[in-house]
Amino acid sequence: MEKYDYVIIGSGASGAAAAEKLSKDYKVLILEKGDYLQLKDAHKSYVRASSAKDFDKHGRIEILSGTGVGGTTLLAIANGVRTHEKELKNFGIDLKNEFQEVEKDFDIKPIPDNMLGGRTKLIIEKARELGYNPKIMPKMINFKKCKACGKCNMGCAFQAKKTSLYYIEKSISMGADLKANFEAIKIEKSGNQFLVKGMEKGRQNDIYSKNVILSAGALDTPKILNNSGIKTPRNLFVDLFVTIGGKTENSFRDEIQMAAYIPFNDFIISPYYSERIIKLLKDMGIESKRENIIGIMIKIKDDSYGYVDKNYIEKSCTGRDVQKISNGVAIASKILSECGVDKIVSTEAIGAHPGGTAPIGITVDSNFKTEMGFYVCDASILPEAPGSPPLLSLMALGKKLGNNILNST
Ligand SMILES: Cc1cc2nc3c(=O)[nH]c(=O)nc-3n(C[C@H](O)[C@H](O)[C@H](O)COP(=O)(O)OP(=O)(O)OC[C@H]3O[C@@H](n4cnc5c(N)ncnc54)[C@H](O)[C@@H]3O)c2cc1C
Repeated sequence: MEKYDYVIIGSGASGAAAAEKLSKDYKVLILEKGDYLQLKDAHKSYVRASSAKDFDKHGRIEILSGTGVGGTTLLAIANGVRTHEKELKNFGIDLKNEFQEVEKDFDIKPIPDNMLGGRTKLIIEKARELGYNPKIMPKMINFKKCKACGKCNMGCAFQAKKTSLYYIEKSISMGADLKANFEAIKIEKSGNQFLVKGMEKGRQNDIYSKNVILSAGALDTPKILNNSGIKTPRNLFVDLFVTIGGKTENSFRDEIQMAAYIPFNDFIISPYYSERIIKLLKDMGIESKRENIIGIMIKIKDDSYGYVDKNYIEKSCTGRDVQKISNGVAIASKILSECGVDKIVSTEAIGAHPGGTAPIGITVDSNFKTEMGFYVCDASILPEAPGSPPLLSLMALGKKLGNNILNST
């Protein structure tokens, strides 16, 4: 009865990497809720979820993700660092080979010196003078095509940024099918196969498959699990971040964002431009333009303290989160002062790395399998917040699942 060996729900970081591994040997179908957009139009795929039922009472944390073929990787700013190596090893998961594969596939390397912008160079110089040790960010960018426009988070007008579309296109060339605009709702066990119940372009469509890999991302995977009768824990993290910044006398050109970073125990700081800084300064009576602004992002490893419900997300800062943000803000403020910023303003807290909503050791085992026998592979299974960009690890996890399946048959 079933047509497919593997149905993969979600075409983002982990789902696409798993599809690329399996499509040569198996009949694979990739289901994606969003549209098949061109990279230059990726900004149309933004989903801005809000964190609380009652913003006025709890304060609001905006949680960003993307919906479209390629998932949130279309909006990513191409940072490619290894995370969770130690934490996953505690569950017997060694990603060494898979990290290497992804790094090779995407030719991940630090930004060359001639592509570093004026803000980044100034922040690196002042941070070094203060005794910190900034590193150049490894990126998934073809630097021959990159125009350093600083708009990776909108897609890429120059086809320079590398995304999961690469794995999706490769999977299709090996025979995988893709259905965009298909929203999976629920997974049922039906004899020795699975039934994925969903909606395709407004009409109900149910698909049988021998196996299912659920990779709908940390905000949607728990909904599908709960619909399917698997209860998920209150374990949501988002890698909370704020951007602080202000006006300088300099006139900077556009540049690659997060081109350098300084890692600390439970947060990183990184040069970042936020449009919101201009508005915040204006509210204080200070007029500024994009070229005057210099900013630093403080991104923390937040506590796994939140929940995805059917209709809302609960996520608030814990006391520890506030302490970590304050520690990062204190260091970043010192650097910005040395860069010549007089009045420093801060954006509100945002999260762009939601995860932990179906963690390994609770919802899935170390083979990424649920109690119903299908797999989950995306940021939901991460055991704790990375406090650092997780894309490379999520792609490596997709490859790992693919390798495990290929090696077991
Ligand atoms: C603006 C921004 C910039 C970022 N930059 C970086 C960066 O530079 N480096 C980095 O490491 N990380 C970055 N991240 C984070 C990174 O992109 C995500 O952590 C990662 O893509 C998550 O991977 P995933 O596989 O869990 O889910 P996703 O990549 O989000 O993929 C999930 C997919 O499933 C689809 N889906 C959801 N529900 C359903 C359903 N019911 N049926 C079918 N399909 C469904 C979604 O539409 C989506 O396409 C960034 C995030 C944002 C928002």
